[in-house]
Amino acid sequence: MQINIIGAGLAGSEAALQFADAGWQVMLYEMRPHKMTPAHETGEFAELVCSNSFKSLLPSTASGLLKAEMELLGCKLLPLAQECAVPAGNALAIDRSAFAELVTQTISEHTNIHIMREEVFELPDDLTLVTTGPLTSDKLVQALLPHLGEQQLYFFDAIAPIVAADSLDYNVVYRKTRYDKGEADYLNCPFTKDEYYRFVEALNAAEKHEAHEFENEFFHNTKFNFYENCTPVEELARRGKDTLSFGVMRPVGLEKPSGERPFAVLQLRTENSNWSAYNLVGCQTMLRYPEQKRIFQLIPGLENAEFLRYGSIHRNTYLNAPETLNENLSLKDKPHIFFGGQITGVEGYTESIFGGLLAYHIIAGGLKSLPETTISGQLWRHLITPVKNFQPMNANFGILPPLEKNIREKQKKKLAYTERSLATMRQHVAKQK
Ligand SMILES: Cc1cc2nc3c(=O)[nH]c(=O)nc-3n(C[C@H](O)[C@H](O)[C@H](O)COP(=O)(O)OP(=O)(O)OC[C@H]3O[C@@H](n4cnc5c(N)ncnc54)[C@H](O)[C@@H]3O)c2cc1C
Repeated sequence: MQINIIGAGLAGSEAALQFADAGWQVMLYEMRPHKMTPAHETGEFAELVCSNSFKSLLPSTASGLLKAEMELLGCKLLPLAQECAVPAGNALAIDRSAFAELVTQTISEHTNIHIMREEVFELPDDLTLVTTGPLTSDKLVQALLPHLGEQQLYFFDAIAPIVAADSLDYNVVYRKTRYDKGEADYLNCPFTKDEYYRFVEALNAAEKHEAHEFENEFFHNTKFNFYENCTPVEELARRGKDTLSFGVMRPVGLEKPSGERPFAVLQLRTENSNWSAYNLVGCQTMLRYPEQKRIFQLIPGLENAEFLRYGSIHRNTYLNAPETLNENLSLKDKPHIFFGGQITGVEGYTESIFGGLLAYHIIAGGLKSLPETTISGQLWRHLITPVKNFQPMNANFGILPPLEKNIREKQKKKLAYTERSLATMRQHVAKQK
């Protein structure tokens, strides 16, 4: 059996090792170092472009759980990451150069993997896995467009934070849609005047992350008008102290149950049908993660909010997977072309590796589904469930179905999720053997 894999980043490297160890011949295409992306700095495979952390290893975290599930599914890159680990408490942080070199060496020495250092800009006619990531080259984007239809490929990813429903203060937040139109899908966080101005001041004083040069280029290029829809909340605050209260946080039609109109209102939109996670509407941001936690916890009702995902804005090419791909993540009009990693609409290093691992199990093993109680199962489900505004998803407990019995204590609840997920994943893996 033979497969082309385009892109030797995290997803592509994982998939290449999986197929090769299973005896497949792998044609692995990587355009670096001849053609670089705007964020990569070397020609090595599996280069981490920003932080050096694969996040927590603790089983009581969603990221730790995803890693444990991936271990059961036979992940190849995480053990290599462990070999390059640096001290970081409970997190798996690595020496990124050592990791990229180790992955490159392991792949280069594999007799079943044939490396082609070239940019691919046409979709091949034979079995192919595309793992070109959020910085897919423009020429390949052009080749993909005719197969995707209008508006099915996104370039910017403006993500607002997501918080856990059970960490909100329900004495403060209240359910209501503006002017009571439609279903009351929103929770509302009401600001007094003082609270609102304190929040705006904090945004203005916040520590911001340095945008990559290419991000700056995109953000300031008026050609990309659509960017206005994802202006960071801190940029809106900078434009004027009342910009938010007259814009995304305007209070009209959102009176409190007492009938009183707040000075400003932040709306929270449910993220899933379980109502277990909420998105901070309009709060896409480039702030550093600790700053996001500190500042968004100033919002009334969010004082103890648990952040399931932080906000971010960066160039991110990803498909509207539920509309353009089949359930096995192959192109609807070219079913021999499969996709894996961040380009499918997962978010994060570990999640992208999972994407490569998943693609292998689907293509080589004919995998049809993963247990719905697992993070892996729900990430896959996210990619095939049509929604109005499809956005990349990372591992978080909010995507899991609720537990059979309600557990109030947070830590115990998370461990219960983990136990349930791992038990079902073990059963699943045993059945596949
Ligand atoms: C600027 C930026 C910062 C990020 N920071 C983080 C972070 O700190 N933590 C985190 O968890 N996630 C982060 N992410 C998100 C994501 O986890 C990473 O982008 C991750 O590397 C994605 O893995 P991947 O395998 O899908 O793509 P990549 O790892 O990017 O691999 C894709 C590969 O395909 C190659 N390629 C592209 N086009 C072609 C072509 N036409 N022909 C041949 N090869 C091609 C590229 O050179 C690259 O090697 C960040 C993303 C970006 C863009």
